[in-house]
Amino acid sequence: MENNKQNENSQNQEQKTPSQGNSTPRERRPNPHRQNNSGNKPQSQGENNNRPNPNRNPNRKPNPNQEVNGNVHDRPAPNGNKKPNPNQNRNNNSQNRNNTAGNKPSHAKPSHAKPSHAKPSDAKPGNKPTQNRNNNRPNNNKNGGNKNRNKRRNVTTVNDEMRKYLEINDKVKNDTMNPWKNIDMSTNGKIRFTPLGGLGEIGGNMAVLETETTAIIIDVGMSFPDETMHGVDILVPDFSYLHTLKKEKDVYVIITHGHEDHIGAMPYLFKELQFPVYGTPLALAMIENKFNEHGLSQYTKNFNFVTMRKQHQIGDMQIEWMHNTHSIIDACSLAIETPAGTIIHTADFKVDHTPVDNYTMDLRRFAHYGEKGVLCLFSDSTNSHNPGATKSEKVVGKTFDTLFELAKGRVIMSTFSSNVHRIVQAMERGVLHGRKVCVIGRSMERNIETNRALGFVDIEDKHFIEVHEVPKYSDNEILIVTTGSQGETMAALNRMATDEHRHIKLKPSDTVIISASAIPGNEGSVSSLMNKLMKAGCTVRYKEFADIHVSGHAGQEEQKLILRLIQPKFFLPVHGEYNHIAKHARTAVECGVDERNILLMGDGDQIELTPKYLKKVKTVKSGKTYIDNQNNMTIENDVVLDRQKLAEDGIINVVAQISQSNQKMVGKPVITTHGLVAEKELKKFQKEIEVMIETLLLNMKPEALKNHKDIENDIRNGIRKHVIRTKKRYPLIIPTIFII
Ligand SMILES: [Zn+2]
Repeated sequence: MENNKQNENSQNQEQKTPSQGNSTPRERRPNPHRQNNSGNKPQSQGENNNRPNPNRNPNRKPNPNQEVNGNVHDRPAPNGNKKPNPNQNRNNNSQNRNNTAGNKPSHAKPSHAKPSHAKPSDAKPGNKPTQNRNNNRPNNNKNGGNKNRNKRRNVTTVNDEMRKYLEINDKVKNDTMNPWKNIDMSTNGKIRFTPLGGLGEIGGNMAVLETETTAIIIDVGMSFPDETMHGVDILVPDFSYLHTLKKEKDVYVIITHGHEDHIGAMPYLFKELQFPVYGTPLALAMIENKFNEHGLSQYTKNFNFVTMRKQHQIGDMQIEWMHNTHSIIDACSLAIETPAGTIIHTADFKVDHTPVDNYTMDLRRFAHYGEKGVLCLFSDSTNSHNPGATKSEKVVGKTFDTLFELAKGRVIMSTFSSNVHRIVQAMERGVLHGRKVCVIGRSMERNIETNRALGFVDIEDKHFIEVHEVPKYSDNEILIVTTGSQGETMAALNRMATDEHRHIKLKPSDTVIISASAIPGNEGSVSSLMNKLMKAGCTVRYKEFADIHVSGHAGQEEQKLILRLIQPKFFLPVHGEYNHIAKHARTAVECGVDERNILLMGDGDQIELTPKYLKKVKTVKSGKTYIDNQNNMTIENDVVLDRQKLAEDGIINVVAQISQSNQKMVGKPVITTHGLVAEKELKKFQKEIEVMIETLLLNMKPEALKNHKDIENDIRNGIRKHVIRTKKRYPLIIPTIFII
């Protein structure tokens, strides 16, 4: 039954007033505006007197919303001149006298509480309109019982005109729920989207969106290795697909914001391929710093600064950068007009209504595009397990107030070097408490200087001191802002903790504030840092204060806000591991996106998108390139694999001389191992291998001895089988054979 196919949203609405199952439940939803007027308090009698009285003024059009409002409050029983309140009656009927909050579903008779069409299994996504109001709800006038009861209690009679406007408004509401229906279905436009990083992982974001002639690379980020990637400092996405694209299309790089996981791989891309780059000044300035470090300054000529709220013609797409709020200044979401329709890419965001710089997320532009109809929304899934909304960055400032009050000696604050608003909040508190600010750590110094140069940090020079000046001041006059909140071994904070820092030695009177949470994978190093700081006797402020750190990513309620503002036809959750995007997909279904219009992607998946369909068409090469930060060079895959093998299973070296004449070893073979056999067992192991090689040679055909490579392979295989059988390990085996 089509009429019964309600989405979850309308289910909720239905459930709010189930007691009216036989009358007109939907239009009696709480009206937030009205609630504001009445301050969410139970309505007074005076307010009731303002309510329309259809009997008194028959020509006046009914206002369903006013009725709605009445419904949600538990008001005193009618008395005196006051008209009886029909909604009060309904509440009485539904035995729902305690339901005082507008948004609370009323817990009514079980038979009504769950209308037949509200079963979860029936929940059909896609904001299905509630059609045929009158079919669902019998007309009061036709219902003899209700009519009589209403007459008795002087209840509003729903007349034809009222019904007409109820239906009109139902239609308006239903149309509003599906603005994507405005998209041009007749277009032959087709686009492809290929994430090359950032899906199935946190970080390393890079994706390609392409039309017939144009390809845009959205962000070029890096990620961190896991503990098995020995000697690898960072990972950058595999650029193979971009080499192919360059031959076929006009390619551009589009940057959303300056975080490492969005720009960190830019120098490595530009060493291979160069494209025009578009972004806000801060993001491009941060890339410029990287280019300078890698000797690529000449490529800053490829930079194009963008104006927010303006559409930039880039190939055959028009792209608008829309300001959002995130843990870095000047972060943006993208509105991309393509031949297939409009794409909204939130990039990283949260919805901070009270940001430190007062520049809120440009939700009006989101609403603007939503109203026009959006083909597909790509949205940040990082925090999709977090219910509610992420707190404002401002709350951290309040925590800093408390911490600065408590601190008696030096304060050492560590956070992500790109979180300039956090750093500024700490610096301002420091200055207020009469402290000088000393910035330590290469990336921190560079970021603060860049942000000061661009005018994002407005703290006078006189408040800053150099690290060698710290001893000139008393401890309670010092604030050190430094890197290392993730426990990075080479960062300044860790070096202070291990007493390796040239200028700063920790003291028991120091207060160390770690204003960050461990990125997944870094928990161990953060814990180890905490141990060192506490051993040094410092007061460490980490998670004991709930608001010492807030995330820069949207929780579920913010994700829902964007889903509702955009209300796209298709939805692709991005930025996160599979569990994050799957959770985000559930949230999207709750917000009316058709489940069939959502795709959970992995890196390398290429999807094709038109107004009519969304489907995976192929897989392109993706993966990671390993980088050694000490020399900014690539480490080849086989080197990393060898290191893994060495670390996990050890190595066996065998050097032997074999006589061609009698097919026997000349003397004893030299067998050495590392990471496999304990010293005291080595002799026994050497003997086993020696016997194994002798047996192997005995059974070998004489012609095999002509090629020492073949013998080496045979010996390697023999040792491998022996070690697997006896030790269950797969060591690196290096035989060196001389045939004499
Ligand atoms: Zn970010």
